[in-house]
Amino acid sequence: MTTLTDRAKPVNRKPMTFLESIYLWNIFLGMIITIKHFFKKKATVQYPEQTRSYSPVFRGVQILNRDEEGRERCTACGLCALACPAEAITMEAAERMPGEEHLYREEKYAAKYEINMLRCIFCGFCEEACPKDAIYLSETHAPPAYNRKNFIYNKKDLLIPDPVTQPEEYAQAKGLREISKKNK
Ligand code: SF4
Ligand code: SF4
Repeated sequence: MTTLTDRAKPVNRKPMTFLESIYLWNIFLGMIITIKHFFKKKATVQYPEQTRSYSPVFRGVQILNRDEEGRERCTACGLCALACPAEAITMEAAERMPGEEHLYREEKYAAKYEINMLRCIFCGFCEEACPKDAIYLSETHAPPAYNRKNFIYNKKDLLIPDPVTQPEEYAQAKGLREISKKNK
């Protein structure tokens, strides 16, 4: 019979020996393999109690940055959305009103800023395109969710805590990158 590939193996139709017919020998051989693996170094970790440090080139969830006074850096110029190959970013610009100088660094700001994490391919182009150092990719991965809507990250999800009013949360959010680099 002609075979389709050269990987075909003929079936061994030899009658079984006594040892083979009682199967115990083969079970014993299988147990030896199992016991050998038992003493080998484990390839898995006990997540989430144990975690592995990320690669230095890992790119995770985006963070919208603030300046040292806690003002939002984003000026809603749209360059990140333009650079995004996955068309994952949408935003709406608004004008800063008198008295809002302590909230927004520039005269224009993003009233709405959304990233669809189901589209995002974590290429980092948005970070590279931003002229205001307003967006960067952190070393935190997007948590799992059951609902597609939960993967649309809005400004509230993306904005880093205020360094003036929430210094601890800000340091923690900012420190994720530095801490994981120290562990490498
Ligand atoms: S990382 Fe890439 S795909 Fe994701 S939002 Fe930024 S530019 Fe778009
Ligand atoms: S994040 Fe940067 S590039 Fe994107 S709209 Fe804001 S300022 Fe412009």
